[in-house]
Amino acid sequence: MDRFRLGLVGIGKIARDQHLPAVASNDRFTLAAIASRHGQVDGVPNYLDTAAMIAGTALDAVSFCTPPEGRYELARIAIEAGKHVMLEKPPAATLSEIEALADFARARNVTLFTSWHSREAAGVGPARNWLSRREIKAVRIHWREDIRRWHPGQEWILAAGGFGVFDPGINALSIATAILPAPLFVEAATMDVPAGRAGPLAAELQLRCGGARGHASFDFLQTGPQTWDIEVDTDAGTLRLSLGGSVLQLPGEAECTEPDQEYPRLYARFAELLATGGSDVDLRPMRLVADAFLLAERREIEAFAF
Ligand code: NAP
Repeated sequence: MDRFRLGLVGIGKIARDQHLPAVASNDRFTLAAIASRHGQVDGVPNYLDTAAMIAGTALDAVSFCTPPEGRYELARIAIEAGKHVMLEKPPAATLSEIEALADFARARNVTLFTSWHSREAAGVGPARNWLSRREIKAVRIHWREDIRRWHPGQEWILAAGGFGVFDPGINALSIATAILPAPLFVEAATMDVPAGRAGPLAAELQLRCGGARGHASFDFLQTGPQTWDIEVDTDAGTLRLSLGGSVLQLPGEAECTEPDQEYPRLYARFAELLATGGSDVDLRPMRLVADAFLLAERREIEAFAF
């Protein structure tokens, strides 16, 4: 079977750390070209922008690793040209943008895949299966990391459309919406926004899931041990997912973990969608973030510098 010829856009941290190795190890794809203003990749044609890449190299699909702000315009160019599209999380800067892209992809009969890499962490599937048979009593999310360590110099992340602490926090919400057996709602929120920035450095969300209460605590200033944990109290005890979903602890059982396969699984899923002609556009994590921004009490905190 012929390989899908892939173009990769936005050669930054995640493209280098994850997309390039995952594409190289997947025999359904050939990296055919890249588009980036500063980043370069050896061995394939390098272009400065998406339109030039699509005009210059024959492609089946384009995968976008740029920041969410501005991705709508880029993805539109690819869909307009009849290319299948995979988007990094969060899929766009606003819900209206991603809904319009989904409509456009449908109209052009191309695949659109809004990827949520954290859902591919080893513990997420087993957690979903276990929770599907339980009554949920409470949900606790602690997602605390050091912005300077993981996002050095990424000014876009605290600009409008950059999501602030919801850039990592949306990963927790992507897992929660995948594993919980009932819809999740935001009931109240607070956000701490540094002076002169648009995106919050910290946020607290009060959540509801069926009859259960929940809480999410997102912090971008955690030094020392980093925390990406979700706990769910149920009628059969407490489920713990830690390290971003990669370690699962069920009541009375040994901890369960596997090597990280998030991005290989994402590209396997994209290949499956391309082969079957389907799309996968799940906007629930994005909707919860939008709801948090709608409800939030915003507090200004002292200015932040990377
Ligand atoms: P990054 O290191 O800043 O890379 C993004 C790349 O996109 C840049 O190198 C830049 O390349 C290009 N770009 C295009 N327009 C841009 C703009 N207006 N501002 C800044 N860069 C722009 O960011 P990243 O960490 O790879 O994150 C990219 C996406 O992946 C985000 O949606 C993020 O949430 C997601 N993600 C990141 C991680 C992570 O650990 N970092 C993990 C999972 C997912 P050129 O200048 O060469 O065009």
